[in-house]
Amino acid sequence: MVRFEQVTKRFGDTTVLDRLDFSVEQGKHVTLIGPSGSGKTTILRLLMTLLTPDEGRILVGGRPLDKEVRKGIGMVFQQFNLFPNMRVLRNVTEAPVHVLGLSKDEAVERAKGLLEMVGLGDKLDAYPTQLSGGQQQRVAIARALAMRPRVLLLDEVTSALDPELVAGVLDVLRDIARSTDITMLCVTHEMNFARDISDRVLMFDAGRVIESGPPERIFGAPEHERTREFLSAVR
Ligand code: ADP
Repeated sequence: MVRFEQVTKRFGDTTVLDRLDFSVEQGKHVTLIGPSGSGKTTILRLLMTLLTPDEGRILVGGRPLDKEVRKGIGMVFQQFNLFPNMRVLRNVTEAPVHVLGLSKDEAVERAKGLLEMVGLGDKLDAYPTQLSGGQQQRVAIARALAMRPRVLLLDEVTSALDPELVAGVLDVLRDIARSTDITMLCVTHEMNFARDISDRVLMFDAGRVIESGPPERIFGAPEHERTREFLSAVR
């Protein structure tokens, strides 16, 4: 579903991704871990077409990534990024109506179902500022899913939350991971979450995957010294 082929990305003289190769099969959940600055966010930004590779190519669903293919990719951000002037329901219906061309009724029906699923069926008329961070993040998840993405990108989605709000968001994501066939790429420092939902963990260092495997192996018996160092620093 997602394939990076020899992708190089530089900023000035700094090579951030160095001939990166990896792929994620349809319906799989992959977590990217690694020290700050190792290139994880750059990968998500390339998939969102906010950046373009200097070399190599990116395929999604077998097709080179372009504007059209990009519509099949959803993202949830660390800072939620809800539309502050719109009520919860409208936050979720906006893109399906304006980007996918759904009728208002269809979009509302879809949005209500998703908001129910994330536990916010009673908050349709609230404004984002009237919600907790955890609730806002659950709206952001519903908003991403309303586009029926084939690929969902999660960028440190619990980092901005108070500790007591993290579990509710992770529960929702766990449900989605179990009950849908959406391909997921997550960047997270929540190793328990990574362990719980990932089929595979990719450990990055300096723009390359230095180690990858099922979470039990990466967390239980890391082979690489850098992975051991990283895991002991975050745990
Ligand atoms: P991570 O998400 O693993 O912390 P990033 O992908 O954010 O890493 O960053 C990788 C490297 O690229 C870092 O050294 C960062 O400073 C650099 N970088 C990221 N974006 C830019 C940019 N727009 N301009 C210059 N350097 C950047």
